[in-house]
Amino acid sequence: MDVGTPLSSMEEKLDLSHYKIPCPGLYADETPTVDAIFISHNHPDHFGLLPLINPKIPVYMSKTLHDLLIKINPLLPGDFNVSHLNIHEIAPDESIQIGDLTVTARPVDHAPAASAYEITDGNKRIVYTGDIRFHSNQRYKSWALADKAKNPDYLIMEGTRLSRAETHEKYPTEESVCQAITDVLRNSNKLAWISLSSQNLDRLVSIIKACRATGRIFVIDPYTASTFDVFHDSFKTVPNADMLSCVRIYYGMNQNMANKMIDDGTFYLHVAKKITKEKILKTPEKFIIRYNWALADWLIENSVTDYDFIYSMWHGYLTRQHTWDKHKDHLIEIHTSGHADVSDLQEFVKRINPYQIIPIHTECKNDFEKVFVVSTLVLNDNEKKEL
Ligand SMILES: [Zn+2]
Repeated sequence: MDVGTPLSSMEEKLDLSHYKIPCPGLYADETPTVDAIFISHNHPDHFGLLPLINPKIPVYMSKTLHDLLIKINPLLPGDFNVSHLNIHEIAPDESIQIGDLTVTARPVDHAPAASAYEITDGNKRIVYTGDIRFHSNQRYKSWALADKAKNPDYLIMEGTRLSRAETHEKYPTEESVCQAITDVLRNSNKLAWISLSSQNLDRLVSIIKACRATGRIFVIDPYTASTFDVFHDSFKTVPNADMLSCVRIYYGMNQNMANKMIDDGTFYLHVAKKITKEKILKTPEKFIIRYNWALADWLIENSVTDYDFIYSMWHGYLTRQHTWDKHKDHLIEIHTSGHADVSDLQEFVKRINPYQIIPIHTECKNDFEKVFVVSTLVLNDNEKKEL
């Protein structure tokens, strides 16, 4: 279940082999001892090690994730490549037989096409949550997991936010994020910048809704247009850039990424949507633009110095990265967590009702038993346990 690298690895820029987990038979130069790998979703802390995996090992993932890994992630800096792997797509609620085990994909709320997995040998049953939350408009999927996989023997569950258990903090819903963005666009007569991950489909949809409600134009880059294409391919309800009347594409972008997109034939796919910086300069207050530092500098040089800057990503990047410093007087943070708050996790555990929880993805594994009042099996990294 998942082969990730620490999120900090994106900043550290060390060789990928630095992050190998000690699992003999997992890697390309070894005799495979692993029968299959299942990936839960499109975050590097869940798939980052894939390029090193032995291509003989079958890897299962959603179509959305497969498309993102083949078409989108190679555009980013670095040389990410999984085209040599033996990847199989697994549909929501589809079951795959791996030896004596049946593994079933269970969609959850967290990221586009994110999946939990249910594993059984016909006797005992394990549920692996991957990352999970209950506050976007996909929340029904996570609650459905509790119903579909009720009473498992073991619940391998993430506890990213357990350190906040004492605060009883409730995270904003994606609907309230959409409303907050709409309010900024409606109540201000200024250009709006927005920083977000182009793979955050929920947020892209929220911005589109905010634009439709306010008449603003959302300016994206060819890379984001390509992620829309992947999402449109997977979820027919998501339009592509050509179908969105409130979207335009600005073609000034990182040259390396542009070259890769020219090479793979996607750069000019939506050229009918092209907008120039001169056009934006005429009426900046009509636009919300995905942040592009070169365009921002040019507009500031051309006297567009009064603007809103919606910061819509993890708060930690604000303090770690200095890119945002020069916009600090304009910043409006509008975001919500990709992970469940503690009260939602407690309700989930109550509903799914496991015999035992195995904590993962947490700095608070020893708090699980107290927080969830369920027997907890605490394992250390690399510790083996027969269930
Ligand atoms: Zn995640």
